[in-house]
Amino acid sequence: MYQLSGVGKTYAQKNKKVTALAGVDLEIPTGQLVAIQGPTGGGKSTLLQMLGALDRPTSGSVVLGDRDIAELGDGALTEIRASEIGFVFQSFNLIPTLTARENVETAFAGSLARSSRDEITRSATAALESVGLGERLEHLPAELSGGQQQRVAIARALVKNPKVLLADEPTGALDEGTRDEIISIIEGQWKDRGLTVVIVTHDSWVARRAERRLHIKNGQVRDI
Ligand code: ADP
Ligand code: MG
Repeated sequence: MYQLSGVGKTYAQKNKKVTALAGVDLEIPTGQLVAIQGPTGGGKSTLLQMLGALDRPTSGSVVLGDRDIAELGDGALTEIRASEIGFVFQSFNLIPTLTARENVETAFAGSLARSSRDEITRSATAALESVGLGERLEHLPAELSGGQQQRVAIARALVKNPKVLLADEPTGALDEGTRDEIISIIEGQWKDRGLTVVIVTHDSWVARRAERRLHIKNGQVRDI
């Protein structure tokens, strides 16, 4: 699914240059469930941004499928993000004035021409049912628990059937019981959909549930 070769990323901070990724070589096969751990500032989020086509590397190549993200224009990156990748974050990023179903439907913004209103509603409903929220379709985020809100965010990330799910600290804002529930939901979706999943986490319990664990520190990645 991914082939990273010599990936470097530097940021300009005031007058100095910060190296966030330092020559990362990494292959992630299709269908793998990978956890990424490491200290704050180590480069976890930067790596996830590269995998998510949110940004291009400063050097090296990030091949997703058969395309090198480093060489694509903004339009192509937007298209890849919209069609191939689902994102989940620590803060659920739901729109408070929209119901669970409407929040999931926002994934189709910009592609209304390609899907009818009814299709979108059907897809959103099915995605929420697949994360166990079939009974909460018309609830607002404030009427849902943290775990339920994160499940809505997972449904929104997956409703367009992406190939890849990228999660940055998806359980970071949740208590332990809810953490287990969210990881089980992600694992279930991974198995059902044959997704490639990358989870950044500080939590060793979460990391141990993955097939593969990576550690990233000073912009360098190794398997553990
Ligand atoms: P982590 O997610 O592991 O905490 P990050 O990938 O966020 O690490 O950051 C790695 C390094 O890159 C840090 O030194 C951070 O300050 C720097 N960095 C990350 N994003 C930016 C940015 N947009 N601008 C400048 N520096 C950044
Ligand atoms: Mg981070």
